[in-house]
Amino acid sequence: MFTCASCTILACKSGQLDQMPKNCPMQDRAFFDQVVQEYFKEENHDFFLTSTAIEYLGYCRWPRLREVAEFAKRMGYTRLGMGFCVGLHKEAAIVDRVLRKQGFEVVSVACKTGNIPKVDLGYSPDMLLRPGTREAMCNPIAQAELLNRAETQFNICLGLCVGHDSLFYKYSKAPVTTLVAKDRATGHNPAAAIYCADGYFKDRLDPEKP
Ligand code: SF4
Repeated sequence: MFTCASCTILACKSGQLDQMPKNCPMQDRAFFDQVVQEYFKEENHDFFLTSTAIEYLGYCRWPRLREVAEFAKRMGYTRLGMGFCVGLHKEAAIVDRVLRKQGFEVVSVACKTGNIPKVDLGYSPDMLLRPGTREAMCNPIAQAELLNRAETQFNICLGLCVGHDSLFYKYSKAPVTTLVAKDRATGHNPAAAIYCADGYFKDRLDPEKP
């Protein structure tokens, strides 16, 4: 089993390969020789080199929104897709404006598209956020399929829920990048709970607590 998350050696970063732990994935050199070939495939090569260059070009200066735009520009994309959460409608409009100003065509689809009640999918009415109302489901598959129809070249995920985002990634034909990760408890900054896991967020991360 690979346990990189608890590794204290980090030979992969330092290059001191003689120090690697026994269960290090790098023990299987042939695997890496094989994987590296994937990057040379036409569909991946430019994509990979461009994303690596973006890291260099805007390192610690460009916010992610700019990185998305710079990446898309360098990849020659002109038509971008955006699957967004209606709770972030205002933010979606800002992203739309920023990207359009730079010459992109932006196709955006809200998560509630279709207005299909959650209960129609077999969801329990007892677990509606507002019981007794027609609470529309999030529809990430429709979001992705509508962007597919519009033939977007690169899709942005803006604040989709955990799992809904996974379906959006799964059904999008174009590659997807996440601009905002939905986290209602932290103002969409999931790292806050990680930074404060031993402090302010300890109780809220405890599965035994409400
Ligand atoms: S790849 Fe190897 S050296 Fe790097 S973190 Fe994982 S176990 Fe540690």
